Amino acid sequence: MSHSASSATGAHNIAPESMTSRDYYADSYAHFGIHEEMLKDTVRTGSYKAAIMNNPHLFKGKTVLDVGCGTGILSMFAAKAGASHVVGIDMSNIIDQAQKIVEANGFSGTITLVKGKLEEAVLPIQQFDIIISEWMGYFLLYESMLDTVLLARDKYLKPDGLIFPDHASMFLAAIEDEEYKEEKINFWDNVYGFDYSCIKDIALREPLVDTVELKSVVTDPCVIKTIDLRTAKKEDLTFTAPFSLLATRNDYVHAFLAWFDVSFECTHSKVKFSTGPHAKYTHWKQTVFYTPGNAIPVSTEDKITGEISVAPNARNNRDLDIRISWETPLGEKEVIDYKMS
Ligand code: SAH
Repeated sequence: MSHSASSATGAHNIAPESMTSRDYYADSYAHFGIHEEMLKDTVRTGSYKAAIMNNPHLFKGKTVLDVGCGTGILSMFAAKAGASHVVGIDMSNIIDQAQKIVEANGFSGTITLVKGKLEEAVLPIQQFDIIISEWMGYFLLYESMLDTVLLARDKYLKPDGLIFPDHASMFLAAIEDEEYKEEKINFWDNVYGFDYSCIKDIALREPLVDTVELKSVVTDPCVIKTIDLRTAKKEDLTFTAPFSLLATRNDYVHAFLAWFDVSFECTHSKVKFSTGPHAKYTHWKQTVFYTPGNAIPVSTEDKITGEISVAPNARNNRDLDIRISWETPLGEKEVIDYKMS
């Protein structure tokens, strides 16, 4: 899934040539550009392709539900892998294009598309052998549809059914990022000679989605969350986790860095991919949380210890409230509330 996307809220039937910017604001997934970005993310789409098409023994003769099918790419992978029937559902008008794509590729007999919200729709099949979905957002959970996938699992998946993917893990590390912190945060101290520092505090609390070079990472990564999609509950997506970041060299820390990995544990030779700074670029990039004030000096083997809490925002559950509290090797304590919106 893509992240700059606003959520589609009950899109009306409008032909693409008549859509205006207001329509795209309400239904951002209707625009092909978002799908272009996702399809061209070869780590993302290639991993799904490998997980599905290299496992025909899991798909042959099986019924498959594609939650948030978009242009229908995952549904077609499943059909090619031998599924007896695939149901793809999407609430965005992009599904009108998916219908044409399915027909153009000769899958009308195997793939049925349903336009609507999974939570409200009536599906032509009630119990499926396999659920496939690409639901991941920035920082894994931002604007995420994981709730929807868990609901689909509870309502439509057979007891021994499979979920693609079935595992996700989130990681935290600390980075040296003086130059960019200067440009993004300290910039507000002096704007053409004026004091703009009120914006500095707001900017600091807004996590930055960007690519970070591996050489900026100055600690070992620490797992802050693992999600088993076969058993996870909606409540598990609100969590608090301790962390301990072990410095791997002498340097200065300017920010925390988060990323996630996804795996298809049920596949024959395990398919997995990472969105970390050590891995190939994906459109999810990484997420940077700047620390306030001066850089934190760390020496090899020092630890920054702390706690991270993640919760959907009470007023808009697609936004995320993230609290990070930590103690520096010198014993200084800090708490910052970040918000992804
Ligand atoms: N599966 C496609 C698209 C992934 S993007 C691909 O891999 O390329 C996620 C899609 O899920 C979007 O098209 C969005 O409209 C849809 N979506 C999000 N929440 C949904 C919900 N509750 N019900 C139905 N579709 C949903």
